[in-house]
Amino acid sequence: MDKVEKYLAYNGKVSIICVNTKNLIEEIKNIHDLTPTTTAVLGRFSTVCGIMGLTSIKENDDSITVQIKGDGPCGSIVGVITRDYNVSKIKTYIQNPLIELPLKENGKIDVGTAVGKTGYLNIIKQNDITDKQYNGLVPLVSGEIAEDFAQYFVSSEQKPTVLALGVLVDKNGVKAAGGYMINLMPDATEEEISKIENAIKKAPSISELLEQNKTLEEICKIVTGDENIQLLQENLQIKFQCDCSKEKFKRGLISIGKDDLQKIIEEDGKADTVCQFCNKKYHFTKDELEELLKKI
Ligand SMILES: [Zn+2]
Repeated sequence: MDKVEKYLAYNGKVSIICVNTKNLIEEIKNIHDLTPTTTAVLGRFSTVCGIMGLTSIKENDDSITVQIKGDGPCGSIVGVITRDYNVSKIKTYIQNPLIELPLKENGKIDVGTAVGKTGYLNIIKQNDITDKQYNGLVPLVSGEIAEDFAQYFVSSEQKPTVLALGVLVDKNGVKAAGGYMINLMPDATEEEISKIENAIKKAPSISELLEQNKTLEEICKIVTGDENIQLLQENLQIKFQCDCSKEKFKRGLISIGKDDLQKIIEEDGKADTVCQFCNKKYHFTKDELEELLKKI
């Protein structure tokens, strides 16, 4: 079972959320038929989206759309995040799921090259009730995803953040996946900050810690350097959930306009649409398309 736990360290001056997303990333790998390279890319991306659902969304009616557009071969990466009480709901996709790059010299998957080092990370927060929108755009730092999001939290949200994301994958599937995010409160001291920096420097990577079957509590102690962390919340969850429906695709077909819809009816006599997030297929018969045409 995937797990999500939140802790406080250094007497409440530091908060940390740690997640194990192995099953979630395996599920996403299967939905999109990902290669090892794109499993690492979309796995890291989906993990941070899941974390944001539990840290950046306060109201149940907010949604966040996240997009990375780098100059690497995997193309655009998109995620939509909502929250239902203790459940972070995400749907994610990658433009070119089938690309596969050679491993780096250190044996790691080359996420930075797959994403690209030049480009941007765009975060759009939307309140569906008030219709208020916030749009944050930052250039990519390295395309390694964790650094890019950390940069966004520091520069756009003024939240001092340490973010680590990791996915271990081989031909048989996902061996380990997860991440952690550390946030410092304004009253955290220089001494505490340097303790955390030293702890992270000494610690193995998050994917190694998870592969060694360390519990989330143990990981939080290791990366904060605080043995006296306090559990804040553990009944949290990250789920892949798509909200697509035939109704939404109907609206999509109507929006292409009278002429184009008429052309589809004459040339194809049907329409087959696919949801890019969950790969669900929706079929429209000629009669159904003619019904839609009357509505335009
Ligand atoms: Zn869908």
